[in-house]
Amino acid sequence: KESRAMKFQRQHMDPDGPSNNSNYCNQMMRRRHMTEGRCKPVNTFVHEPLVDVQAVCLQGNITCKNGQPNCHKSSSSMKITDCRVTRGSKYPNCDYRTSQKERHIIVACEGNPYVPVHFDASV
Ligand code: ADP
Repeated sequence: KESRAMKFQRQHMDPDGPSNNSNYCNQMMRRRHMTEGRCKPVNTFVHEPLVDVQAVCLQGNITCKNGQPNCHKSSSSMKITDCRVTRGSKYPNCDYRTSQKERHIIVACEGNPYVPVHFDASV
């Protein structure tokens, strides 16, 4: 079974991206299996080395959106792409808007090793 840590990597890691193309989210949301059963409404991909994203679990500790205490904010800004489903997108034809940004990321971490399992926000 896919672990939470592996699920985070599937849903949020694309170190070699982004291809500079407005179809990025349409392609990646499908390729990473986030358009099965429903169109996942919002999702962020991070374009930095996995070790740098894992290291965020050792950086500033903050409260998550859901009130849990296990979130961490990256000390550096990171290259990311936000994917947001368009109004008018109708499952199973999931249509996304692609926006490239440089932001501090906030992830929730769990386990031993203590690694990212959820993408909370970018600021
Ligand atoms: P994401 O939230 O990264 O888009 P999912 O919702 O599919 O992805 O999975 C998030 C996973 O992270 C769930 O298994 C959830 O239980 C876990 N998790 C651990 N800590 C938190 C937290 N503080 N907030 C939200 N989810 C968390």
